[in-house]
Amino acid sequence: MSAIDRSLRVIAIDDDPFELKLITHQLSRLGQHDVMVFTDPVEALDCIDEAGVSAFDLVFCDLQMPGIDGIAFQRRLVRSHFEGELVLFSGEDDRTVQAAANLARRQQLRLLGILKKPINLEALRKILVAATPVSSDETKPARKMYSPEELRRAIDNDELINFYQPKVLLADGKPIEAECLVRWQHPTDGMVYPDQFIPVAEQHGLIDDLTHLVLTKALDQSAQWRKAGLSLRVAVNISMDNLSTLDFPEKVMAALETAAMPAESLILEITESRLMQDPIAVLDILTRLRLRRVRLSIDDFGIGHSSLAQLRDLPFDELKIDRSFVHGASGNPQKRAILQASIDMGRQLGMQTIAEGVETIEDWKVLKDLGCELAQGYFCARPMPGEKMPRWISDWRQRYQEIERESVLLS
Ligand code: C2E
Ligand code: MG
Ligand code: MG
Repeated sequence: MSAIDRSLRVIAIDDDPFELKLITHQLSRLGQHDVMVFTDPVEALDCIDEAGVSAFDLVFCDLQMPGIDGIAFQRRLVRSHFEGELVLFSGEDDRTVQAAANLARRQQLRLLGILKKPINLEALRKILVAATPVSSDETKPARKMYSPEELRRAIDNDELINFYQPKVLLADGKPIEAECLVRWQHPTDGMVYPDQFIPVAEQHGLIDDLTHLVLTKALDQSAQWRKAGLSLRVAVNISMDNLSTLDFPEKVMAALETAAMPAESLILEITESRLMQDPIAVLDILTRLRLRRVRLSIDDFGIGHSSLAQLRDLPFDELKIDRSFVHGASGNPQKRAILQASIDMGRQLGMQTIAEGVETIEDWKVLKDLGCELAQGYFCARPMPGEKMPRWISDWRQRYQEIERESVLLS
């Protein structure tokens, strides 16, 4: 077994001293690492707090510990702003360990992996190879948040640009839609992604202007594709905050008219990240948009508040299953069951079903087997500038033939 040629600073926590001895021994077989062990998680946390948030590259933490368990430990790590990576090790059943792993990811901890007890040396080696030491250049810089003034300036200076990601029919590989995803081409920080500025726009009254800009550009792009002979519907993400002013449908219709595009060519994707403040206004606005033939999609279905109640009450045409149920579904019975149920339900409600986060051929194949209609994700294409779409479509046609051949071999 080859050793790892860089030295990592590791903390291992387990209430069982024997397990600690074992992991220390295994780590030493895999290179010269700087290892500290603790049977008491509280002492480990104190040590992290004292040494500083970037003093350790890796924390190995047992899930089952008396006093403060692995979950409470995670919570404390978040509070300490720990910058290293977390590895969970546990003898618990898969579902429990997966739940703990999901929790870590949701809290923005850098979860590197899960090790099952008894720890296998090869699995441990893979974890160490994949580790990104805190001090290395590969570590992402801390996510910067932007002020409303900076964002206002960006909107006024036309620094926001639209990228587009195709949505493809699973039955025959035809791209029929493209989702518009906004980015900020920052003059000094480079490309900034929406999760770093959409919340700012929502909280500081800038979201209407931002949406208007994105929508106008997306419809222009769609008109250009049409001129080039491509018929792609364009999907624009809408914030719940856009749905508080009753004239929103009129604004959308005006934008469609300016671009000379039919209402049917536009999809609005709606995510409900928090509870609706005014459900009647939302229902009013969405119903009027629907009456005018604009298509409506429920985004990130299955997480947050995008739930069954929304499906019951709001006139959606498309059900977009959150990527957390999609990628890896072929090897995960829980995800697969939720995926299947969502697809079946969408079909029964007469909605188009789409899965986001399709990253591998296995994801693609499971969706096809389960009867999902559309796929979107890195497997087909990463989001791209609008002018790259025609070229991607011709490359994709070729790739799709190969995918079909490979899918047959996989089954
Ligand atoms: P969303 O609408 O669910 O968009 C999908 C996100 O998943 C995009 O991230 C996309 O780049 C990413 N993605 C696509 N394929 C894959 C894949 O195969 N694997 C993984 N892991 N990710 C994939 P992005 O562009 O960073 O956007 C994040 C969110 O920001 C969007 O989530 C949407 O809710 C919001 N957003 C983007 N543009 C706008 C906008 O113009 N207005 C509003 N209000 N929100 C926007
Ligand atoms: Mg979306
Ligand atoms: Mg989504």
